[in-house]
Amino acid sequence: MERTLVLLKPDCVQRRLMGRLLARFEDKGYTIAAMKLMRVTPELAKRHYAEHVHKDWYPELEAFITGGPIVAMAVEGPEAIRVVREMVGVTNGLKAAPGTIRGDFSTSQQQNLVHASDGPESARRELAIFFTDAEIVG
Ligand code: ADP
Ligand code: MG
Repeated sequence: MERTLVLLKPDCVQRRLMGRLLARFEDKGYTIAAMKLMRVTPELAKRHYAEHVHKDWYPELEAFITGGPIVAMAVEGPEAIRVVREMVGVTNGLKAAPGTIRGDFSTSQQQNLVHASDGPESARRELAIFFTDAEIVG
């Protein structure tokens, strides 16, 4: 059993795709072990995207991720970290395979609807940024 952090990014909320994207993880058979609608502050963005803070495109990413509400979720189930990444697809919506979330709903490198942790260490680190132990109830 694994848990991974999924964020429904501001473009997902604005496009009213929350329900359809959440349904994909439920349809797969995964459990939503925690969930909240929230705003990402610049400080939170810098912690979450620590690996990207020094990139030239980071300011654009911060403006995007802080620009509207998001939904943070802990998604739980067998091999959830790898499988959820595969369900989300590669970063650029134009390159993501049909059948993936980004492949089906995004044409953008930045506005790609969903974040998913990229490995066990990231999942542990990122879940701790968004949720206390007591908030993970699944
Ligand atoms: P992923 O979310 O697929 O793990 P990355 O970790 O490479 O992708 O990047 C984190 C997020 O930053 C992406 O999901 C996307 O929203 C944004 N991003 C990635 N590359 C760029 C770029 N060149 N310009 C602007 N935003 C980007
Ligand atoms: Mg990444």
